[in-house]
Amino acid sequence: MKLVVTGGAGYIGSVVTSQLLDAGHEVTVVDDLSTGHADAVPQAANLIECRVHDIAPVLKGGGFDGVLHFAAKSLVGESVEKPQLYWENNVVGSYRLFEAVRDAQIPRVVFSSTAATYGEPDVSPITEDVPPRPINPYGHSKLAIDMLLSDYAKAYGFGATSLRYFNVGGARDHFGERHAVETHLIPNVLAVPAGTREKIFVFGDDYDTPDGTCIRDYLHVLDLGEAHLLALDSSEPGQHRIFNLGSGQGYSVMEVLDSARAVTGHPIPAQVKPRRAGDPTTLVASSEKAKSQLGWAPQRKLNDIVADAWAFMNL
Ligand code: UDP
Repeated sequence: MKLVVTGGAGYIGSVVTSQLLDAGHEVTVVDDLSTGHADAVPQAANLIECRVHDIAPVLKGGGFDGVLHFAAKSLVGESVEKPQLYWENNVVGSYRLFEAVRDAQIPRVVFSSTAATYGEPDVSPITEDVPPRPINPYGHSKLAIDMLLSDYAKAYGFGATSLRYFNVGGARDHFGERHAVETHLIPNVLAVPAGTREKIFVFGDDYDTPDGTCIRDYLHVLDLGEAHLLALDSSEPGQHRIFNLGSGQGYSVMEVLDSARAVTGHPIPAQVKPRRAGDPTTLVASSEKAKSQLGWAPQRKLNDIVADAWAFMNL
């Protein structure tokens, strides 16, 4: 297929672009390089430097078969401080993009949604029929886009899929996580053996979990990418589908630290700090729907995620 990937210079977008190219697709990356890196875009992809807001001329007459939409602001804390950035970049940008998709009559859209749309549900694992109740502007913006995409798909006849990512980690060779502001647990933990941090801060050990630290569902970025390829192939005109993507297995912050100690052979000192605002106790996905309807089968475990992220940091 002839595809457009927005945000293809970012972490997940660059990995998925490399998988799409391997599968024989032709890829045009559209990225404004605000947080992404031009050298993260695989050589075989065509890179157009542009905001999603201004994508219409790229799509028009391009004969594209699908758009994978990764470009977004994605820092929860920043979204609380500066919600305008999230409504303007994420929601207004997606609106402009879907208008351009409609105008250019592109038949398929796959959108990067998030577990943050669910907020703090008191059920585990989380299925797609759990009511979305986001608790921060980042989650609000992604839920608004899911709703926009659903309305557009049904009314204007394109096939759309929202993939709700849980915690993504790992890397593929030289495509990996390189954020200027790093808030995620795995890269922060690995910064200790890499020598750029002295110790890791554990945000809260008084949660109602076996070891008192928060539980999350970590998924390898390559397994995540596979779900995008399956979603593209199975897209049906006029239908909007939502799939949760996780491994179905939860790990505590302490278990992630232990995995990193085992992978790196470094003691990785840790210091407990107060809870981080807005962190739910447990977020674990049910991915049964993706498994049964997409035929998706995630292959990689927590140790693979940490080992691949560590290999990427040591390139
Ligand atoms: N966390 C931590 N120390 C860090 C970064 C994260 O203890 O330096 C915890 C965080 O409080 C949460 C879990 O690790 O419980 C996963 O956080 P991350 O930011 O990776 O993903 P989130 O689940 O917030 O999307």
